[in-house]
Amino acid sequence: MTQILSVVSECAPLIKTGGLADVAGALPGALAEHGDHMSVLLPGYRAIMGKLGKTKVVDTFRDLFGGKARLLACNAYGLDLLIVDAPHLYDRDGGIYGDAAGQDWHDNPERFAALCYVAALIAKDGAGGWIPDVVHGHDWQAGLTPEYLAAQGVKTPFVFTIHNIAFHGNTGGERLGSLRLDPARFNADQFEFWGHISALKAGLAGADRITTVSQTYARELLTPEFGIGMDGILRARQSDLSGIVNGIDEAVWNPATDPNITTYKAPSGKAANKRALQKTFGLGKSDGPLCVLISRLTEQKGIDLLIQALPALLGNGGQLALLGSGAPDLEVALLEAAANHPNMAVKIGYDEPLSHQMIAGGDAILVPSRFEPCGLTQLYGLRYGTLPLVSLTGGLADTVINASPAALSAGVATGVQFHPITAQALSDALTTLCALYAQPDTWKKMQRNAMKHAVGWDTSAAKYHAIYAELTP
Ligand code: ADP
Repeated sequence: MTQILSVVSECAPLIKTGGLADVAGALPGALAEHGDHMSVLLPGYRAIMGKLGKTKVVDTFRDLFGGKARLLACNAYGLDLLIVDAPHLYDRDGGIYGDAAGQDWHDNPERFAALCYVAALIAKDGAGGWIPDVVHGHDWQAGLTPEYLAAQGVKTPFVFTIHNIAFHGNTGGERLGSLRLDPARFNADQFEFWGHISALKAGLAGADRITTVSQTYARELLTPEFGIGMDGILRARQSDLSGIVNGIDEAVWNPATDPNITTYKAPSGKAANKRALQKTFGLGKSDGPLCVLISRLTEQKGIDLLIQALPALLGNGGQLALLGSGAPDLEVALLEAAANHPNMAVKIGYDEPLSHQMIAGGDAILVPSRFEPCGLTQLYGLRYGTLPLVSLTGGLADTVINASPAALSAGVATGVQFHPITAQALSDALTTLCALYAQPDTWKKMQRNAMKHAVGWDTSAAKYHAIYAELTP
């Protein structure tokens, strides 16, 4: 049994802005099936402090990056949690990465350095008598952990998982002191990135093993196009890099038991959910597929491509229900498009129950991302018989079987993929989707395939388990 400390900036169901939280929340349970134990170290954001139940103080710090702090231990939502209660860093209104206006917190480097610093102390001295065999950090927020492990002289192995390489956690070199980093290591082989301190690079340089969340993304990261400046260090560390696809929490995302929907076990059970969803979004009946999209609204997610490709869907009798929030220009463009089309409706916001109702009621789920390390909503779609239409990149390439003539005749297709990632190719894919929907037998067969496709954690948790075991012989 390996004891693992997970170091992460968000964890479902406590606090979530994206797929990272889902993974962090699901991994401990999935690993328990393999006999491992994972505790999760999280910042004590104001938004989570009231959700922890009974806590125990297991450590105190007189000066944790500018103020007093405590380390709390508790069990909430079935997770063993360690919480860095540092009010000067985390007790504030607004989001977890930025203020209500969307500006990053000016002290984000220190806020997440503190998390890494505490992780290293736990690896050295333990927390309430518990001491990890392996530390597993996620994304740049956990990237400085190996620096602090080295500074403490701790040899605990460090696994680093890239959920999205687009975020580097860079800050100016003048912050070396405030981040308590060793100036001798501020060089291109360690955590210096073109004159800046890069938390992400520190993680990549210092990790014993690097993983990312799909095999295709692991390959893509080695190229300048996808590696975004980190492809060089990743090529140098290629033998320590592997792709392990994310699973979904099959207890939370199960159409047979989901409390948010009219439950079903076969594709025919989707009809009641589709009617309810059309009502919720103020959409009428239509002959084409009801497509759904649930996402952060950013350039990464290809929302602008979809806006250009809309005629191929709406002109073929299709419908679109979209839930998301993010870039103001994309929000405005989507709302304008919806105002002009009776078959399109948009809700701006973040709404977990509605996202379940959309996955259950939609005929298809759209994920037209420019890059997508893994992607989760296409996996929810598969489980709910809601066929994914996705770009051919990252985890979207690995988890969907395109309805090519060969896959259709072999009876294995589960969705539609498009490439290159352009508005034209997306238009063509939407036309294909509508044509498939017009063939009920083919569509039903694809739905059945999709619902049988393995999307849980079994295989992937076994791979993490194997990595931990290799590192702790
Ligand atoms: P990313 O992590 O890049 O945002 P993923 O597909 O990996 O993308 O994960 C996104 C997660 O956030 C999914 O669980 C998705 O359902 C959820 N999500 C995104 N936007 C919303 C929203 N507006 N309302 C509810 N859930 C959302």
